[in-house]
Amino acid sequence: MTKNTFRAFLVRKTDDNQFIKQVVEQDFEDLPPGDVLIRVHYSSLNYKDALSATGHPGVTKKFPHVPGIDAAGIVVSSPESRFQKDQPVLVTGFDLGMNTWGGFSEYIRVPADWVIPLPVGLTLKESMMLGTAGLTAALCVDAIIKHEIVPASGEVLVTGSTGGVGSIAVSILSKLGYTVVAVTGKSESHNFLKSLGAQSIIGRDEIADKSGRMLLTERWGGAVDTVGGTMLATILKSTKYGGCVTACGLVGGANLPTSVYPFILRGVSLIGIDSVRCSISERLQIWSKLARDWKPEKLEEIASTISLRELPEAIDKILQGGNLGRVAIALHDW
Ligand code: NDP
Repeated sequence: MTKNTFRAFLVRKTDDNQFIKQVVEQDFEDLPPGDVLIRVHYSSLNYKDALSATGHPGVTKKFPHVPGIDAAGIVVSSPESRFQKDQPVLVTGFDLGMNTWGGFSEYIRVPADWVIPLPVGLTLKESMMLGTAGLTAALCVDAIIKHEIVPASGEVLVTGSTGGVGSIAVSILSKLGYTVVAVTGKSESHNFLKSLGAQSIIGRDEIADKSGRMLLTERWGGAVDTVGGTMLATILKSTKYGGCVTACGLVGGANLPTSVYPFILRGVSLIGIDSVRCSISERLQIWSKLARDWKPEKLEEIASTISLRELPEAIDKILQGGNLGRVAIALHDW
């Protein structure tokens, strides 16, 4: 590798609509225009990155493309005095890794408004073990707390619980004293979920009501749903009076076959969670919690670390719903 190039995980689209993934050498002038040049130390793999790397048009339209919605690293240069050379920073969401080249690269160049200082209490690696999934899980928990759901309000359900968002949500909620019920399709992962603090574990089929009933027995005080579709509809039907359900994902489907009854007869709140465009002030608050009281006890067990070369296999696995916990990506580990 020469001094003027760096490594990146590039996805190319062929004429017959195939998406070829390769680690390549890039020139610095290939980076998009932006304010802050960052030497990326760690990125992470999220479900959305897998969609981007396989050409999902709802995520990425422009190819060739470097995915990676998360990046943590050191400022190389910034025209803005807000950021100093050698300062540790992180970037998640906005357009990073969508139609702007992202964190699966040794360098990124981004607008200063996307960058936040690395919170005190987290290393660069830890920040990417959490990444967008951690931010999203914490936003869900924050919404549940703001809706005055306390541990005494009853069990809190987490769906997609062995995945990135789910595993961190289980960890934070149990650390805060909630009784967490984890939904998983992986019968072999019960010990993993128990070690994160889940009190009980149920299968996906237990949250897949097809009875046609508008309401079911009240059970959940709150919920973090990463799945959507019938699962989210079932949760709404069985949430207790005044309960709060946060919806952040769609791995099980984008439809929501529900009725108004949970809302008008039980005062249930359905809160949409977005980590992509949420404000910098909200990010700073949430990241500061993640760096302190909400930091998962077992972060090292939740997250594995891979190199760019190992990404294709990890992408296939996350697309098949086989992901366990979080995947951090070390950019300079060869
Ligand atoms: P992961 O792939 O890490 O986790 C998803 C988990 O969902 C899987 O591990 C699996 O867990 C479960 N799952 C997979 N397929 C299905 C299915 N068909 N039906 C039911 N459960 C299924 O993804 P992430 O945690 O990174 O993301 C989860 C969702 O949240 C995605 O839709 C993602 O786009 C969304 N998201 C949204 C954000 C926002 O800002 N709104 C930010 C980050 C993510 P198990 O086997 O335990 O059931």
